[in-house]
Amino acid sequence: MEEHSARHEPAPGALRDAYPGGAFRGVVPDFLARAPAPPPPSSPIRVLPREVAERIAAGEVIERPASVVKELLDNALDAGASEVAVELRGGGLELIRVADDGCGIRGDEVELAFARHATSKIRGVDDLAGLATLGFRGEALPSIATVAEVTMLTRTVDEEAATSLVVHGSGVLRRGQAARQRGTTVAVRQLFQNVPARLKFLPAGRAESLAVGALLRRYALARPAVRLSLVIDGHPSFRASGSGDVRTVLGELYGEPVALGALTIAAEAADGRIRGLLTPRTLTRPGRQHVTLVVNGRPAANRAILAALEGAYRPLLPRGRHPIAAIAIDVPPDELDPNVHPAKSEVQLLREAEIAEALAAAVREALGQAPDRPDESRLFALGPTQYALPRPLRRIAERPDSPYDDAPTQFREVLPSLTVLSQAHRSLIVAEGPRGLFLIDQHRAHERVIYEKLRERTEGGPVEAQSLLEPIVLELKPHEAARLEERLAYLEALGFDCQRFGDRDFLVRAVPSLPGTENVALHLQELLEEAAAEDGGWRGRLLTALSCRAAVRRHQKLDEGSMRRLLDELAATAAPATCPHGAPLVLHLHDRFLERQFDW
Ligand code: ADP
Ligand code: MG
Repeated sequence: MEEHSARHEPAPGALRDAYPGGAFRGVVPDFLARAPAPPPPSSPIRVLPREVAERIAAGEVIERPASVVKELLDNALDAGASEVAVELRGGGLELIRVADDGCGIRGDEVELAFARHATSKIRGVDDLAGLATLGFRGEALPSIATVAEVTMLTRTVDEEAATSLVVHGSGVLRRGQAARQRGTTVAVRQLFQNVPARLKFLPAGRAESLAVGALLRRYALARPAVRLSLVIDGHPSFRASGSGDVRTVLGELYGEPVALGALTIAAEAADGRIRGLLTPRTLTRPGRQHVTLVVNGRPAANRAILAALEGAYRPLLPRGRHPIAAIAIDVPPDELDPNVHPAKSEVQLLREAEIAEALAAAVREALGQAPDRPDESRLFALGPTQYALPRPLRRIAERPDSPYDDAPTQFREVLPSLTVLSQAHRSLIVAEGPRGLFLIDQHRAHERVIYEKLRERTEGGPVEAQSLLEPIVLELKPHEAARLEERLAYLEALGFDCQRFGDRDFLVRAVPSLPGTENVALHLQELLEEAAAEDGGWRGRLLTALSCRAAVRRHQKLDEGSMRRLLDELAATAAPATCPHGAPLVLHLHDRFLERQFDW
């Protein structure tokens, strides 16, 4: 990290100034505080020298209305805006208007802003390394003006009046003065009217409005301190209050159940930090677009990172369902290349694999810790007559601090304080805790406990075996037999006494000593076949199958003492909320859920 400080010596607090909201409030890694300062309010706009312009990945960035919105939004945020209002008509073809309260452009530079490769954000290629702004190519405004009529109204803090300019193609149509507070409004009309080919292949207006909505949601999560609003065809679509709190933004965008239920993750890897909020398996959406990745304050895409996130969820989610997540990754500036994609949307991370792995581990850990809650979004979808409606968002915004300080329950922490009330269906432990009621699947809970005990044995713990009264002979297929023989040491650590004799036969004299040993003995054939499976996952699957066979079954009466012991043992495991197959084992009826359901 020392290398970075040698190169950039910005003023302290530079990051706070660059990102008024910060990606995640209160979490400003040291190395980011040393990022280069953003352009001061009056940074002059200059045309980049040709050799600089040529080294920046160029490309046609204006493909569709949503790309116009993205570029204008980037500009507003780079200008330090704390409020940005976006308006869309006719899917953006009729009108796109973005108004901000940022630093504005000086009257004598407004024309220059529309010149190709004119920017106030970088001077040379070196500035790309520690880039703190979203834009840097000086291409957006001229590109938009090529395919639309652009009206700009802008004023800096020390000017008397705002400058208005209408540009179409490469020519200025009108210039004038008008009244305006500090900031900039850009209105784009007649988009693509002069490019009939482009117009023909555009998706329908409604699809474009949806895309713009998705874009704005990502920005709202990336910059929670910015008041961001979207109006579509005269109707308010959403408004983020600029609270500075990501959980609050989640509530404003997706409703209270999501804000209340989102799990927190935090991890460090490869000089980078990962922070995030993500929904448990019960709060999902049919589309992938609700995962927001923010890299160094920039809403971004990165295939490896997103695949790692999806992968961590996969065993828990039904097909076609996806989480809602906001993940912020902050890495030292020189480990990031934002310049690989013409629209700057795909970023490249130098140590991508390490970060992806750390993210996946953090997500698995969070999901393994999180008791299920009822999926209230589905309950609400059934309508107000059957179920209470979520509290109106307005009430969330009224409160001074985040209404969601009540972080999701860490099951391991509440387990010891649970009082066992009874057993339901001879399958579920009913318990009461400080934060509501808990229903715990006895079979899956026991599986988790046994699984972790078995894993300890394979990591050098004592071997615990139980001899069989009569040795059992099992026959495997020849190729299975060969593989199993190589794996006998692993089986021995678990407590199996198993020997090969002849071509395909194995003699088993002892099995792991476990609560349900008889049942293990009954399923020996299946277990040994699992142990002889071809692919690399055989260890995990053998442990899972063993714990499944040895665990207490459903429809089995448990007395209070055994239920209590089971909960205590569960509290000592690494992932007490999921069974080794990955399925949830606890349902939490949170006090707040009960309050809402009964309208207390
Ligand atoms: P870039 O953002 O890559 O610099 P643009 O073509 O998007 O290029 O904008 C050119 C310049 O115009 C910016 O560098 C900035 O100085 C100025 N500018 C554009 N939009 C705004 C805005 N909303 N507020 C203040 N300045 C702006
Ligand atoms: Mg720009």
